[in-house]
Amino acid sequence: KQLTSAQVRQMFLDFFKDKGHQVEPSASLVPKEDPTLLWINSGVATLKKYFDGRIIPENPRIVNAQKSIRTNDIENVGFTARHHTFFEMLGNFSIGDYFKKEAIAYAWEFLTSEKWIGFDPELLAVTVHPEDDEAYDIWLHDIQIPKERIIRLEENFWDIGEGPSGPNSEIFYDRGESYGNDPEDPELYPGGENERFLEIWNLVFSQFNHNPDDTYTPLPKQNIDTGMGLERVVSVIQDAPTNFDTDLFMPLIREAEEISGKKYGQNSADDTAFKVIADHIRTVSFAVGDKALPSNEGRGYVLRRLLRRAVRFAKQLGIDEPFMYKLVPIVGNIMEDYYPDVLKQKSYIETVIKTEEERFHETLNDGLEILNSIIDKEKQKGSDVFPGSEVFKLYDTYGFPKELTDEYVADYGFSIDEEGFELEMEKQRERARNARQKVDSMQIQDGVLSDVETESIFVGYDQLKVKTSVEV
Ligand code: ATP
Ligand code: MG
Ligand code: MG
Ligand code: MG
Repeated sequence: KQLTSAQVRQMFLDFFKDKGHQVEPSASLVPKEDPTLLWINSGVATLKKYFDGRIIPENPRIVNAQKSIRTNDIENVGFTARHHTFFEMLGNFSIGDYFKKEAIAYAWEFLTSEKWIGFDPELLAVTVHPEDDEAYDIWLHDIQIPKERIIRLEENFWDIGEGPSGPNSEIFYDRGESYGNDPEDPELYPGGENERFLEIWNLVFSQFNHNPDDTYTPLPKQNIDTGMGLERVVSVIQDAPTNFDTDLFMPLIREAEEISGKKYGQNSADDTAFKVIADHIRTVSFAVGDKALPSNEGRGYVLRRLLRRAVRFAKQLGIDEPFMYKLVPIVGNIMEDYYPDVLKQKSYIETVIKTEEERFHETLNDGLEILNSIIDKEKQKGSDVFPGSEVFKLYDTYGFPKELTDEYVADYGFSIDEEGFELEMEKQRERARNARQKVDSMQIQDGVLSDVETESIFVGYDQLKVKTSVEV
């Protein structure tokens, strides 16, 4: 079946609307009223208020396509076929309404019915928790998946410490032998770390309360929380070898080809660079559209790190000047159907990104020279450890996020002196505390002070002017 990503997203929403679900719009990437979370990282993250019972939803059945950012996967991006820092999660949710039987039946119908996605059922495999006989029996008897393709895995338990928890069940698509052709690979099973069995959908059956004394008791109301990666399911539908070879990313890669004069698909180092660029520009464009700004802390630091990481990979393609901002309209075009906001804010987002790129380029070459000279010096001493104080200096003076220095020096087989770096960071925090106390003693009003402490100041996008990183 030939479907665009926009059609797949819409199909998912329509399918669950048919099943009585209410469509919730994609919420901002910046969490509202949730200080525990840096970014919205899943569909359920925006629905916590319903899951913990604070608010009773109008309709206990909910469906959404939720933009999500995950920084824990950053090192994978560009290297696996399936990981992004920004991706969309398609999810259906039941707040005390239907449970396992329906959740599994819906997922199966959506994926295999000719009317919907129409995957070959023989290419799907599932995992369940070893003690979840209920889910096992539903897959085996109701859905009639042969038992060879129902795998019991200990990790299939969703638990965040205290609070609701429960077993989960994941659905995998077998991409065929060409995706993992070493039959001896111990990881070659659905749920293992391999490229052949692609995890597309996770169904969480929230049925226990994890009590403070670490016991588990049944919840009075059971919930369903599911998440399917749009980019992954689209890669299968479009018969694309990786998520990047789909209509969600290819226009970005084509533009990066234009800018660099290099071709995608020629060698793997260049391809990784193309993928990193295409991934990171989506993340930064959407995050800036949701009013996050590059800075030295928290969310802002993530954006700074992503942009600078993209610049590092762009060097591989011979790109030596600000260019990421030029990809913003393309992100906007690709996502326009469901996220018109990116195009609407195009020039604001471009300005933020261009400003940040320019800032980095101003000092990049100086910083790299220093980095290289330190590598040489340490090599001569027979060391392969990059001193923590130098990591700090690169960060403080040249704006190299530590993780970036980490990646640069790894190219030379070096590692970072973590302890030394932490020591310098602690000293800096101490200096900041002292400076703040001084200000306090001058009796400056709290309001002024808290302004200075904010990670970045947004001065309105109609002004197209951005002040970033006000440091105390
Ligand atoms: P993986 O094991 O491949 O890292 P996961 O088990 O961490 O995935 P979940 O937390 O179960 O992922 O998220 C639900 C779904 O969201 C996954 O089944 C997948 O389709 C998608 N997904 C998760 N993380 C990413 C990511 N970094 N990039 C793209 N899609 C993702
Ligand atoms: Mg993961
Ligand atoms: Mg997984
Ligand atoms: Mg999972």
